[in-house]
Parts: sequence; C-alpha cells; structure tokens
Amino acid sequence: MKLEIVTIGTELLLGHTVDTNAAELGRALAAAGAEITRRTTVADRPEAIRSAVAEALERTGFVLTTGGLGPTRDDMTKTVVAELFGKRLVTDAKLLADIEARFRRMGRPMPAINRTQAEVPEGACVLPNPRGTAPGLWIEDARGRVAVLLPGVPREMRGLLVEEVLPRLARRDAGGGAGPPHVVLSRSVRTTGVSESALAERIGEIEAEIAPLTLAYLPSTDGVDLRLTAWGLELGDAERRLAAAAARLKERAGEHCYGEDGADLAAVVLDALRKQRRRLGVAESCTGGMVAERITNIPGSSDTFIGGVVAYADVIKTAALKVPLETIAAHGAVSEETVRAMAEGAQRLFSVDATIAVTGIAGPGGGTPEKPVGTVWLAARVHTDTRALHRVFPGDRDEIRRRSAQAALDLLRRLLAPG
Ligand code: AMP
Ligand code: MG
Repeated sequence: MKLEIVTIGTELLLGHTVDTNAAELGRALAAAGAEITRRTTVADRPEAIRSAVAEALERTGFVLTTGGLGPTRDDMTKTVVAELFGKRLVTDAKLLADIEARFRRMGRPMPAINRTQAEVPEGACVLPNPRGTAPGLWIEDARGRVAVLLPGVPREMRGLLVEEVLPRLARRDAGGGAGPPHVVLSRSVRTTGVSESALAERIGEIEAEIAPLTLAYLPSTDGVDLRLTAWGLELGDAERRLAAAAARLKERAGEHCYGEDGADLAAVVLDALRKQRRRLGVAESCTGGMVAERITNIPGSSDTFIGGVVAYADVIKTAALKVPLETIAAHGAVSEETVRAMAEGAQRLFSVDATIAVTGIAGPGGGTPEKPVGTVWLAARVHTDTRALHRVFPGDRDEIRRRSAQAALDLLRRLLAPG
C-alpha cells in the first residue's frame, strides 16, 4: 500500500526541532510493508495544512500526519482535516471523561481549553493515547480516503503507531487477500576505521550479485554502515536474501567489520576483553572521558572496566600516568611517544592487562601547521604489546572527539582480534 506523510509544526521548518517523527514513521511503515511515496512538512497554518493534506489525499488516498493536535490555538490539524472531510466536530463523552480523569490523577484542575481535545470529527475512530491528552484520529470518508492524525510528541506518536496504526494497516492489507504479506526489510553491516571510498573499493561491484536487494553506504562519526534493503519481497525470502548478502559483505569488509545493525563498538570490545579475561583501564586527554562513558554505558561493564583518568593537563599526564616530562617536552603532548607512555602508565595505575589512551587537538584553537586541529594519537595496549595510531580527523570539536573515542575503541578491538 502507498501513503504520504505530513509532519506539522513551524518548529520543524525553523530547524528548532529535528523531524524525528518522519524518520521513525519511515522505518516503521517500511518494515510493515507500506510504501511512503512522499513526505511533506508544513507550518502551523491552516491553509498550509489544508493544501498539504488535500494534495496527499488526491495522490495516494492515504495520509498520515503528526503534530498540531494539542489544546492550544496553534494546534489546528484536527479542525482543518475535519473541514476537508466535510465533518463537524462533536464532543466524545468517553474521551472527555478520560481526559478529566487524567487531570484528576495528576491532582490538577483541567483547564477549560482541554475540552477541545475531546472533540472529534463526526464518525472518526478515536485512537486512545495513554501517554498524553491528545488521542490519535482515524478519519475515513465514503470514497475510502483515509487521514490518520497522530500527536507530535515523539513518545506519544510512537505508542499510537505501534499499538493502533500498524495493526489497523495490517488488517487492511489482509483484507485485500493477495497472498503472503510483502515487506520492506533492512539489515546493516557496521564497519569502522576505513573510509567510505576505500571500503567501496574492497566491496567491489556487488550490486548485481545481491539484486533485487539494494546497498547503501551510510557514513557517520562511528564509521560506515552498509545497509541492505529488500523492497516488497515476501518476508521469508527477504530474510534469506538479506542474510546471504550480509554474510558476503562481512567477508569483503573483513577486519573493518565489527557487527551488524545496532551493534555498539564499546560492547563488542567489552565482550572480547571478557572472553580473554582481561580488565580495562583508560587514559584520556582530548576525549575527556568519552571512551569511559561509552564503556560504562554498557550494562555489566563493571566486571571488566576498572576506571579511567582524564589527563587533560600535562601535569596530570606526568603525575598520574608517569609520562616522563622529557617525553612531553621533546615530542609534545600530542605525539606517539606520549600516547604510548599514557597507555603504559594507565596499565600500571590500574593494574590491568588492557588499556586505551587518547591525546589530540580537538580545536577550534591549538592547531599548528605540523599538528593541525583534528590531529589525534591513539594507543591500545594489551599485556606488553602497544599499538599506536595517528589520525587527522575532519569535523568540528564534537565530531573530532567522537571520532577519536570510536577510533580508540577500534584500535583495541583490532589488537584483541585473534590472528
Ligand atoms: P504538537 O503535537 O504539534 O503540539 O507537538 C508537540 C511537541 O512534539 C512539540 O513541542 C515538538 O517538540 C514535538 N514534535 C512535533 N512534531 C515533531 C516531529 N515531527 N518530530 C519530532 N518532534 C516533534
Ligand atoms: Mg505543534
């Protein structure tokens, strides 16, 4: 089935709010086998909402909106769409009682303005929203055209989508009675420590081999994800083809691959350490604790991770990590010699087998012609073996720091890998 999405909110156009609803709807609806043919974003203005919804209905006969369902004057989606469908707004007694009860539970009087939230277009199906006061609405006319209105608050939108909208879509689909369900399904292979173009060279021309699946290269500060998508295949067939293609991609990506789909590199590294019964300590300068944050974010990391030092000033590098003052004086705080000494120092300080060390220039100031902003030295040490890596990362301060943390984790992952 085909449908269009209209996200409503002036803040979305101004860029004050990122349109995460559209992205989430895209993923969830695709997985459910619905094809989004167009997505539009409009301001909180009645004429803009009216024309966007009317045009979408004309093209596909099915439109899903988010936003503008609140009780205030800038929320007008319901009124506009009711008008468009030629339906009056009527107060739904059950809905009004629910909203009143909700305010009672919170021990607050209900502002009169909230009464408008109990008004629904005559004949519309109310999609109950236990997470907020604005329910979703499913409006259908005699010609079978459908408008589904969902609230803008992402948590509420998501709840209604999963609990109310997707099941209804599945039933409509089944009603068509055209054989087994067809899906749009994706699977990702995650890589890091390799550029997009170098990775593409390694993967080679695989497109024809994996067709009708498609392959997308998705670079981010974490690395490059290879996303395979099956469009409109029967579920079992899609899963089989995706598994085979993912295996082929992993083989070609080789040591650059660290996992699939939602895999977190920090969790992958922790697993490897745990298997080898090694414990980890970290020494961080420019990442200021980001590596430790990534690791402690993983539940159960306490059995493997001991701790870290943020050795920002040189005096901490020398005092806590015993980096010789002469090393820093001769080579600088951002150098191979210093990062190696940091990794060794952390090993002694924490009495652990494995360490990670990071030192770099995150900018925007502090760069020199020899060591421009983005210059980072990373080290990973396991037992008596230290591996050091020099990188010059692109991007702003935040991006450089994130890339540094990811690259540091990756260096240890590669050092721990068998063979
Ligand atoms: P509304 O239902 O229009 O009153 O929106 C309520 C809140 O949800 C707004 O303050 C926004 O922060 C958020 N919101 C609305 N639309 C979106 C969207 N498309 N993506 C992410 N957040 C949104
Ligand atoms: Mg709004």
